[in-house]
Amino acid sequence: MGSARADTPPRSNQYPIPDRMKAWVLGGPEELSLVDKPVPQPGPAEVLVRVDAIAVCATDIEIIRHGVPAMIDGGLPFNRGFTPGHEYMGTVVKLGPTVDEFQVGDRVTVEVHAGCGRCQRCREGMYTSCLNYGFRAKGHRANGFSTDGGFAEYAVNSINTLAHIPDEMTDAEATLIVTAGTAMYGLNVMGGVIASEGVVVIGPGPIGLMGVGVAKALGAQPVILTGTRDKRLEMGNRLGADAMINVSREDPVEAVQRLTGGKGVQYVLECSGAPNALNEAARMVNRGGRICLAAFPAEPVPVDLAYLVRNNIYVFGIRGEGKSATHRAAALMAQKRFDAKLIHTHTFPFAEVPTAIRYARERIEDAIKVVVQIRGN
Ligand SMILES: [Zn+2]
Ligand SMILES: [Zn+2]
Repeated sequence: MGSARADTPPRSNQYPIPDRMKAWVLGGPEELSLVDKPVPQPGPAEVLVRVDAIAVCATDIEIIRHGVPAMIDGGLPFNRGFTPGHEYMGTVVKLGPTVDEFQVGDRVTVEVHAGCGRCQRCREGMYTSCLNYGFRAKGHRANGFSTDGGFAEYAVNSINTLAHIPDEMTDAEATLIVTAGTAMYGLNVMGGVIASEGVVVIGPGPIGLMGVGVAKALGAQPVILTGTRDKRLEMGNRLGADAMINVSREDPVEAVQRLTGGKGVQYVLECSGAPNALNEAARMVNRGGRICLAAFPAEPVPVDLAYLVRNNIYVFGIRGEGKSATHRAAALMAQKRFDAKLIHTHTFPFAEVPTAIRYARERIEDAIKVVVQIRGN
């Protein structure tokens, strides 16, 4: 009795893999160039992904300019042949030894951090906070941060960082899953029990907007979005926000109190990095409420700690998308529980990665998510 799998003709021949590929690499700060590199080889528990599309993230812009938060073997990522980019999707084209969790031809999206798999945090599922962060000899991988990322034709990924995507989901939409996964992780670390609870999302950037979609899909009520630009707030409305507050016209704390009948909300997901955001969030939550910081101000800021303590308010900070949050976000998007595609505003070909990055950095034409389509679609 042959299994269905054995009856299927092998698909590996459909994906001839060249020895060399084109990849963008980081020279000094702000220096990206398109070079020829060897195609990397997958090891045990890894696959080779043909990168089909990749989204530009604010963190990519940070890395290209300042190096951090990318870190390679304890140092900055400049002039090391490093390829940035971490929000990509593609097709599995080669399996490493022992891999049977995926098949050649599978369409997948990736989460960023494989972690090292051996430290306490990785064992706890907090692989975005790996204690061996950046040390490749200890097995740490975070593509686009400590190992080569997706502004390239091919990338090696740990099987732990892959999620299947449905055929009907476009390449561009699949690149947004990791952003939704970050928002999901923020809701998870605050406790994750959000059906019927009020959630305020501060800041309608990509993570904030996905936070609205995820919170609503999980049953939060009401979901309130705050920001300064009406167009972004309107997009939040289409992603499921029950109320939008334009903070240039209305005090956001008073507005949240008004909208909740003076009760406040249980959770705030802070995605703006505004200097006073934590103080405002503290006055939006009820006693014992929870705040997750997914963005941060450029400079140290004063915080009313006494208010936090007196009101038993919990404050969390997240980095990235741990505890398989990306898989949960992928499931919600596969079920079309919110329309992530709304935040995808621009598309560029592979040769125009610097233009794509400029659009994202300068928010040209109100760019939110800029996607580089490397192949087809
Ligand atoms: Zn990102
Ligand atoms: Zn680790």
